[in-house]
Amino acid sequence: MSKIIASAAIRGAHSIVNKAEKELKRAIDAKGPNEKVEFPNTGYYLPVIYGLTGREIEKISDMESVLKQAKELLPEIPSDNLWLPYLGPTLDAGIATLFAEEIIEALRYVMGPSPVSELWLGAADDVIMRARGIEFVDGSAPGFAAVVGATPTDELAVTLAREMQEKYLYVFMAGQHKGVAFGEQLANQDVQLGWDTRLVPFGKEVYSQIYSLGFATRAAMAFGGVQPGDFTRILRYNKNRIFAFVLALGEVTDEWYATAAGAISYGFPTIADSNIPQILPTGVCTYEHVVSNIPHDKIIAKAIEVRGLKIAVTKVPVPVAYGPAFEGERIRKEETYVEFGGQKSPAFELLTMKDISEVEDGKIEVIGPEIDDMKEGTAVPLGIVVNVAGRKMQPDFESILERQLHHFINGGEGVWHMGQRNLIWMRISKGARAKGFKIKDFGEILIAKLKADYSAIIDKVQITIYTEEKPVKKLIEEAKKLYNQRDERVAGLKDENVDTFYSCTLCQSFAPNHVCIISPERLGLCGAYNWLDGKAAYEINPTGGNQPVPKGETIDEVKGQWKGINEFIYNKSNKNIDKFNAYSMMEEPMTSCGCFECIVAILPLTNGVMVVNREYSGMTPSGMKFSTLAGTVGGGAQTPGFIGVGRQYITSEKFISADGGFTRLVWIPKELKDQLRPMLEKRAKEVGQPDFVDKIADETVAVTEEEVLAFMEKVGHPALALVPML
Ligand code: SF4
Ligand code: ZN
Repeated sequence: MSKIIASAAIRGAHSIVNKAEKELKRAIDAKGPNEKVEFPNTGYYLPVIYGLTGREIEKISDMESVLKQAKELLPEIPSDNLWLPYLGPTLDAGIATLFAEEIIEALRYVMGPSPVSELWLGAADDVIMRARGIEFVDGSAPGFAAVVGATPTDELAVTLAREMQEKYLYVFMAGQHKGVAFGEQLANQDVQLGWDTRLVPFGKEVYSQIYSLGFATRAAMAFGGVQPGDFTRILRYNKNRIFAFVLALGEVTDEWYATAAGAISYGFPTIADSNIPQILPTGVCTYEHVVSNIPHDKIIAKAIEVRGLKIAVTKVPVPVAYGPAFEGERIRKEETYVEFGGQKSPAFELLTMKDISEVEDGKIEVIGPEIDDMKEGTAVPLGIVVNVAGRKMQPDFESILERQLHHFINGGEGVWHMGQRNLIWMRISKGARAKGFKIKDFGEILIAKLKADYSAIIDKVQITIYTEEKPVKKLIEEAKKLYNQRDERVAGLKDENVDTFYSCTLCQSFAPNHVCIISPERLGLCGAYNWLDGKAAYEINPTGGNQPVPKGETIDEVKGQWKGINEFIYNKSNKNIDKFNAYSMMEEPMTSCGCFECIVAILPLTNGVMVVNREYSGMTPSGMKFSTLAGTVGGGAQTPGFIGVGRQYITSEKFISADGGFTRLVWIPKELKDQLRPMLEKRAKEVGQPDFVDKIADETVAVTEEEVLAFMEKVGHPALALVPML
């Protein structure tokens, strides 16, 4: 281990801790010790400090003990001739740095200048955390690069960013080199920044990289069930499960070294383009700790190799860049070359299976004008018909595969897709057109992706694209009939009528003891997997995260308990949970990881339950915000009275049916209620209470349990007459 690095990192740590101390003093002088301090909308306080020490920082004075600890961790600055044979002091300096950096950033929210500006995003809230976290869970994002500094030219920054996007990585940016930041370079080149494109500019100073480590720390707590304060497990979890590295671009200052040392504790190595001393022997990181002097055209590949990332990228033969990071890209009207659908022209997409002899593999046909014959700024009719064949293909998979068209097409740079079926809306940007993107390329994308991702069920794919009004209009009518038939088939699926449910253990990479059991009438709590998805996923990958689970002997029909399911859960929860009831939230309910779309919580006073969705950041009648409730529900444990659910489950016939069911609903945030209204009303009619939906309170009429009760009494809510819940 190089003494230069040790002394630089320790010097940097001293400087950052000093700064934190100054800022803290300034804040106490200005606002007093009791001023509230927080990152917006999170249940994880200041996440690095919370995760590593268990301290819940809520007001400025709470920071004093953390700062004290940081100072105690700080090793003395070694004199130049001191040789440090091991990493210990450098790592201590790194942790002290992280505490200090989090204090510095949090105080910016109190004292300004705000970490959030037109370009910089500051801390990620829990909604973002969940949405992005799940991509780390299901593998659609293998990890992140924490970029510090800037490249010699703006163009080079774009090249590196595109390369990382194409490798599915998130790019977290903070810190500057000679006054220039990587994020600014991308913005100069009109690159779209933000969580949606995976290019996330946190802040201009290196301190803002703390948000990357905060993200990693929260992942361990939210998905890994690691308890706050369990220092070793937080770090180990990250080393093993979060694939991240620091990309140092430009002159590595003492403060960069100190921050890099903090990252090394998490197992995240640093790859630098400059000539700094390397730390090659492996220890804390999976491979090398610091690798330097890497030329820009090799640096991403080197980082991926050093961190031990395995990325399987499908090469899609189109003239624009391709990858999931482009899914979040928006194309504004002025940037649009042509568009399709969106009420401006008839458009639809349809995927159907055919007999293997009827599909000519790889054939793409465009019937009607190509892009060269379309006028700029027009809306053109579009019909995309995908025919697939395969020995293991089943009609049930058609709709599942069809839903993927959205992701697949959206992955193209400069190509935008929204909606599904006959409600699609698509755009091709002028930029994509200039690079040579053609209508035919929709077909190229779909063939490449369907065959790569679904090779287990699809042997042949053929695509026909219509761009003339007459055939499109005619085919839409035929497609609508098929859509309806599919809907009826799925709506008819009841838990009683199948003897097999599906498991999902995808989240075990993050929440090791959590198992979702997915039945036709209860989808996965993340909302992303229903029973048919589970079935298809199993066919596609028989050894994957979705396994068929025979229900076996019925133990309790009303509560939803079966012998086969219990046995499966016992094994797969590492013997933590020996049984559960699928239809009860009060008695041995299903567990939750951290991805639930909504939380259902009992409101004892009302004899009913409330539902709150993750997007709702206000107070709820339970006296807790979503983020606080989430802390109670997640982590793979059973918490009677509280469950995490996918939003669709709320309108299922099996929604807490053992506890009284649908009419227990007494409070839902207004936005969610409006979103679900058609389904809620349908369900209300089914239970014989057509005006029930308006008896459910929301935040406009009640935010405390007492207010909910008063509202219920006023409207005559049926839950008041149900048997007591407790
Ligand atoms: Fe995770 Fe359950 Fe969703 Fe699977 S279904 S991804 S286990 S939350
Ligand atoms: Zn999960």
